[in-house]
Amino acid sequence: MALFNMRDMLSHAHQHGYAIAAFDLVSLDFLEAIIKAAETCRAPVILSLAESHFEYFDFELAMAATEAAAKRTPVPVAIHLDHGASLESAVSAIRLGCNGVMVDASTLALDENIARTKSVVDMAHACGIPVEGELGYVAGVEGEDAEKHPGELVYTSPEEAQLYVQQTGVDFLAVSIGTVHGRMRGEPQLDFDRLADINQSLNIPLVIHGGTGLSDDQFRRLIERGVSKINYFTALADAAADQIRSNLAVAQAGGSYTALLRNIQTPMQAEMERCIRLWGSRDRADELSEVCEPWQPVDHLIIYNASDDSDVEAMIAEGREVLAAIPGVREVFAGEALKDGARYRYCWNVRFCHPAVVDSYRDHPDHVAFADDRFRPVAADRISIDFQAT
Ligand SMILES: [Zn+2]
Repeated sequence: MALFNMRDMLSHAHQHGYAIAAFDLVSLDFLEAIIKAAETCRAPVILSLAESHFEYFDFELAMAATEAAAKRTPVPVAIHLDHGASLESAVSAIRLGCNGVMVDASTLALDENIARTKSVVDMAHACGIPVEGELGYVAGVEGEDAEKHPGELVYTSPEEAQLYVQQTGVDFLAVSIGTVHGRMRGEPQLDFDRLADINQSLNIPLVIHGGTGLSDDQFRRLIERGVSKINYFTALADAAADQIRSNLAVAQAGGSYTALLRNIQTPMQAEMERCIRLWGSRDRADELSEVCEPWQPVDHLIIYNASDDSDVEAMIAEGREVLAAIPGVREVFAGEALKDGARYRYCWNVRFCHPAVVDSYRDHPDHVAFADDRFRPVAADRISIDFQAT
């Protein structure tokens, strides 16, 4: 298991002057290429899934594969919801296994951005999960994904950034200092002084969206000024598309689906490895694993007997629905003993994403109401314990 707390990963990067790559994935080819690049470089990496891309793949199925990859790899990873649009998006991403979320309310007025971001931070922090906010606006110009970010670029103001971070409690801030989503048109002009001011006043890990097209020197200067996570997608999508075009040229009209996708991971992986080396996260896997909290679920197990077995079925059906909707709950299992005469006949196993959920779940009004009104009257004889894997 190499899933780690992203807050620890990015604060290590921020303290030690390097940036961790956050590569957006839109298919298994992207996921496999990201993992291979990170493993080849012995580097930490962030597996990033953008809500604006959910039209291209099934988020739930992609998360199952992403989590499996994260569990299997020896390098430290986090799984991040990129550009989450709402509180509901963040809750559902956490349920499916994201252990970092971005809330993007950057098109709203400052006070509305603060209010929406704070609602996500309050929920996510109660689940132990760090949050990235965005202030200012990183627009799209051209290239894949650019159309998802319409309008004009708005630079992040250092004064507003301080207010925003204080009032929302975000852990990381995506800043707008001249990069764009998609491809740049012409030579990118970045406002490094502005970035330095923001870094000095906030002292939290900063995030750059729209890394495609920047020069090596520009990346170095960004990282020197507090950028600890770089979102990178368009260049990878372009590398994959170039490979498909060259496969098509070879295969001509006779090319099958698999022939057209042949070697698609190779150019993506090469580009990712270039980024990882340039951004300074190569060979950081071991030191990072030592200082970061391993990301492990908690199993909240309750075994019980019912005072009247005829009340149990309806209570369980209601509990499955109510408890599964509480933030930080990954899964709700309700079971019955296989054999008659077992010491306890029924069980709940509610899986939490993080130990922080033990408290926030217990105090959540929906849980309190269910426990007081429906569960405890039925289950007077019960044992409840929270377990974490040893
Ligand atoms: Zn972005």
